[in-house]
Amino acid sequence: MAFSRRDFLTTAVVGSLSLGLESQEQKQQDSRKAQTRTLAGKRPIIVSSANGYNYLDDAYNFLRGGGDTLDAALRVVKGPEDDPNDHSVGLGGLPNEEGVVELDACCMHGPSRRAGAVGGIRNIKNPSQVVKAVMEHTGHVFLVGDGAERFAVAQGFPRETLLTDYSRKVWLLWKETHSDWWGPGLADPNWKKRFPAGKSQKDEWQIRMKRMKEVAAQLGIAPEQRATAIREVIFPPTGTIHCSALNDRGDISGCTTTSGLAWKLPGRVGDSPIIGAGCYADQDVGSAGATGSGEENIKVAGAHTIIENMRKGMSPLEAGTDALKRIVRNYNGDRDRLKFIDMTYYILRKDGVYAGVSLWEGYASEPGKPHRIAIHDGSKRAEKTVNLFPGLSQEWPPTPA
Ligand code: ASP
Repeated sequence: MAFSRRDFLTTAVVGSLSLGLESQEQKQQDSRKAQTRTLAGKRPIIVSSANGYNYLDDAYNFLRGGGDTLDAALRVVKGPEDDPNDHSVGLGGLPNEEGVVELDACCMHGPSRRAGAVGGIRNIKNPSQVVKAVMEHTGHVFLVGDGAERFAVAQGFPRETLLTDYSRKVWLLWKETHSDWWGPGLADPNWKKRFPAGKSQKDEWQIRMKRMKEVAAQLGIAPEQRATAIREVIFPPTGTIHCSALNDRGDISGCTTTSGLAWKLPGRVGDSPIIGAGCYADQDVGSAGATGSGEENIKVAGAHTIIENMRKGMSPLEAGTDALKRIVRNYNGDRDRLKFIDMTYYILRKDGVYAGVSLWEGYASEPGKPHRIAIHDGSKRAEKTVNLFPGLSQEWPPTPA
């Protein structure tokens, strides 16, 4: 799942849903029946990506006390946005290739059938709060870049430095080891040919790793953070938080917020702020959101597809699985390419039935940490998502083992 690489979860996962291809369909049906049986009608309820887990209690109590569904969802996503140690969202989110943090977010408020979104906003820590302001204080839905920032400042949001000491150093590590003109040049007395002739690709990687460790130390990255930093450089992490909230009257809202793909091109916007891709809520049907490979999700309008599927009668699990299959279809089922795509959907139907579905079980770089959906419906828990394919997605770009 595309969420902060930190593991926020403290609860054990109930049961393994790891699926073999041959029995996958049957197990999905069983799982669907189980979900429908145990959860139909359980309201209020909040679901989120796993990095929302720590913030569910406060939001659930707020919702149960009569709080608005969008405000409840915003309470959840604000947690990771404010957390400098979550490198996927808000403050501390990893920057673009120029070292600038650009954030994306959107929200939908079911009861009033309104929406707000910002794309590529800089210097504002909580884009999820800004999208609510866009929704409430403009006649527009979507503001981007400089205009979004100026609007936020006009609304009273402070301009803040979103790069932390750590994220700045990891960006420098990426610049020095992954681009041509940063780092010591030919004239440096310690210059060494990076990849001596006659070496295998494996040798070259060992040399590159050694250099990255040296540069990480020179940059002052703490020893215990160096492995994470190097992994974030080699495999540009994605990460996002989505949250949907449903109250006992059947009001439903959703929000998604992210710093997007690390080291992205300036101006790149993923799926998270796109109404209908990263998030969609319809008061008549339910709410859905996404984390993962944004470019792929945009092409299938994932969240909207899921809501429309449910409107036609599919269960949350069926609706999400169908959206995943559309991504698979876009690659003609070619798993050699699909293995580099990661996608998780978080789905909440108006009657309280929910599902978390993923293309793969988890990331290859994080074995043993499957994708999860966090839930609070009176009891807080995190459950493994139902994966379409067995196995783990590979990090992009491809690297030798
Ligand atoms: N979907 C986000 C994006 O593409 C990233 C993620 O969820 O991991 O920007």
